Amino acid sequence: MKNTFLITMCDLSLEALKAYPPDETRILMIESQRKWQALPFHRKKMVLGISAMRHFALELQRAGYEVDYRHEPDFASGIEAHDHQYQPGQILAFQPREWGMLQILQRLSENLPLTQIPNPFYFLPREEFIRWADSQQNLRMENFYRWMRRRENILIQNGKPAGGQWNFDKQNRRPPPNRAYPDPPFVEPDAITREVIQTVQAQEGFWGSADDFRLPVTRAEAWTWMEHFFRWRFADFGPYEDAMRRGDWLVTHSMLSAFLNLGLLHPREVVERAIQSAEEYAVPLNSLEGFVRQVLGWREYIHGMYWYKMPEYRTVNYFELERNLPDWYWQPDKCELACLRDSIEMVKQHGFAHHIHRLMVLSNFATLAGVNPLRLSEWFWAGFVDAYEWVELPNVLGMATYADGGLLASKPYISSGSYIHKMSDYCSDCRFDVHQKLGENACPFNYLYWYFLDRQREKLSQNPRMTVIYRLQERKSAEEKAAIRRESEHFLARLPQGNSDYHFQYDAG
Ligand SMILES: Cc1cc2nc3c(=O)[nH]c(=O)nc-3n(C[C@H](O)[C@H](O)[C@H](O)COP(=O)(O)OP(=O)(O)OC[C@H]3O[C@@H](n4cnc5c(N)ncnc54)[C@H](O)[C@@H]3O)c2cc1C
Ligand code: SF4
Repeated sequence: MKNTFLITMCDLSLEALKAYPPDETRILMIESQRKWQALPFHRKKMVLGISAMRHFALELQRAGYEVDYRHEPDFASGIEAHDHQYQPGQILAFQPREWGMLQILQRLSENLPLTQIPNPFYFLPREEFIRWADSQQNLRMENFYRWMRRRENILIQNGKPAGGQWNFDKQNRRPPPNRAYPDPPFVEPDAITREVIQTVQAQEGFWGSADDFRLPVTRAEAWTWMEHFFRWRFADFGPYEDAMRRGDWLVTHSMLSAFLNLGLLHPREVVERAIQSAEEYAVPLNSLEGFVRQVLGWREYIHGMYWYKMPEYRTVNYFELERNLPDWYWQPDKCELACLRDSIEMVKQHGFAHHIHRLMVLSNFATLAGVNPLRLSEWFWAGFVDAYEWVELPNVLGMATYADGGLLASKPYISSGSYIHKMSDYCSDCRFDVHQKLGENACPFNYLYWYFLDRQREKLSQNPRMTVIYRLQERKSAEEKAAIRRESEHFLARLPQGNSDYHFQYDAG
């Protein structure tokens, strides 16, 4: 009797199934309607996920597996129907990447022979992260990253970090580059992808368009995408990591997150290829280390923290912010803030914007405007092709909005317009003036920043990393403080109200 292996959208790897050969294993794959209806997802995200699954099902068949590919109202009914039809000895599944799926599997395992296999899609099993976290007084990423570098012996020479430093951040804060980079290797949709595009495009209630979808949907295509990044952008990755350019959704970033998170690429092979490519293309150490830090450090850390803190992580709201997400986040055309409009348009067009747009524009503005961090998190989850709860939630609630009160970040990532001005070319083409602090034409980030600090004084002023900024604030005159309050409240009162006409059921699937 064959066992069944449940393969979800994030498990798309033949390598991961090595220990489960076709003569012993039948594959179950489910497209769940409920999962897709949970949020107004971006159409490109849906096409990517569904098309990648359908392509992977064919790969499995070519490798000799029998595949039961089902279209079901939800995962649970799909698994039950499969069990009824095939009566497998066991139903195996990788530990789910998300809390919701874990709840579904745990519920089903009361009546079905369901077994979870350790998740092989990370460097570090989640149980080991939890052991590491329990042994620490300070859960900062930097400590974790150094521990991981030593543990995996990556960029370590004679027991010391390569280049004599753990961190090259000082070299990695340049404003946008002047040079252009070649387009990544887009893929013309084949018949499978075209069919998915047609179906998704015709459906109501989703965001953006998939008509121009041209992303990789197979491992081979994702690999080519990765190689192209190493060849053309990698050398400049470090210095321009924080730079934003109008209309440029990648600058020097890789967009590998979308393929890593589906399982098409494994983080270990990405890091190994990064190290080899650095030699092949004479990539400087600040770029190589910067990239390794993202994949080996941040990605593993975020994954670990999610499992360390769920399900409470969904409930944090340190600043007690309650505003709905302004409509601009769904319809950016009416937004007058050039940086915010362009960042949202990027997401609407590509289902993607790089890290600094996410952190210093999209989240920064939402926090300064008092948006409930969970509403922001849902928007990220819905809108980005690489978004899954395990990775967006700690990034949004932890890193970006400080909603966890400082578990992940040592201070909130908020700024006035000057940071955006320094790291982008937005301000020269904005109706607001980044140099004006107050008045009709003043950059809204400028007064909203001080207004936020004022309102959150009790929660932030004791933070040692905020002392200098609060000292500056104290030096402001009573008139200036009153004007900041007045202009901020005027701006916020005119912010287009968010309509929360969807109600997200968190563990639907
Ligand atoms: C508010 C906010 C929301 C985010 N939501 C997501 C999300 O839904 N999915 C997601 O994969 N990443 C998310 N991130 C992390 C990061 O922004 C993206 O991984 C990165 O922008 C993806 O683009 P890239 O592949 O070009 O990354 P690169 O800059 O090329 O970095 C290489 C890889 O490092 C990994 N990485 C880098 N930073 C992080 C991080 N903070 N957390 C996890 N992995 C990281 C990614 O896998 C990425 O592909 C979020 C960050 C913020 C601030
Ligand atoms: S002036 Fe302010 S709102 Fe306009 S682009 Fe610059 S930072 Fe953004």
